[in-house]
Amino acid sequence: MKRRLLVGNWKMNLLCAGALELVDALAQHDAVSDSIVDVVVCPPFTVLADVGRRLHGISLGGQNCHAELKGAFTGEVSAEMLFDVGCTWVILGHSERRRDQHETDAEIGHKVLTAQQAGLRPIVCVGEQLADRQAGRTTQIIQRQLDGIIEHAGAPALSAAVIAYEPVWAIGTGLAATAEQAQQVHTMIRGHLAQHGVARDIPLLYGGSVTESNAAELFGCADIDGALIGGASLKPAEFARIIHHARQVAR
Ligand code: PEP
Repeated sequence: MKRRLLVGNWKMNLLCAGALELVDALAQHDAVSDSIVDVVVCPPFTVLADVGRRLHGISLGGQNCHAELKGAFTGEVSAEMLFDVGCTWVILGHSERRRDQHETDAEIGHKVLTAQQAGLRPIVCVGEQLADRQAGRTTQIIQRQLDGIIEHAGAPALSAAVIAYEPVWAIGTGLAATAEQAQQVHTMIRGHLAQHGVARDIPLLYGGSVTESNAAELFGCADIDGALIGGASLKPAEFARIIHHARQVAR
């Protein structure tokens, strides 16, 4: 049975006290990994160490890392630093970073290699803008993103990563892709990656306004192996119910 992966992206939210409260609440709601689900939380850098010390049964991830392992990069955080504070995962190429920090596929591909060198498993985000979808360019955009990343990271490195399909128009909008839309893109991603020599069983997450209301339907899709969850991961009871749905529809 393939385990499902549920990743909470806390983004730039929570100070130390609030982050620890959230961790305690997750424990109370039984939001933990087991033989069916893997649960990961990605808090802001400033609280990673404290959160990591408090977590039980949940893995820790960073929201980004630099493409180089060390050096004169003021204000940046390296993959080794994340590993050093207990991270085993890192989100790379989130659309908010592509938009605000102008991250390119080449840079994201480079980060995949660096992250793996440091012992982290990358969660690599791809997704189209609303205008792309409306113009029928979803496949073209996503394949271009994947190709750019593969060109720099290589198929073997990507095979050991996780891909998160996050339509930009669905992130933080309350307007999730339908299960049918998500499944369609996931099938395309799996097929395209396989053509490039990437493992067919690479986990594919869906991200974009996942809630307790749409989780079960999304998890019922053959090619959706879990979710990257923003807003709902800050609400412990809801995050726990999403995890519960993932357990219920385990294959
Ligand atoms: C995200 O931050 O990756 C995300 C999917 O956010 P939300 O669940 O809030 O749409």
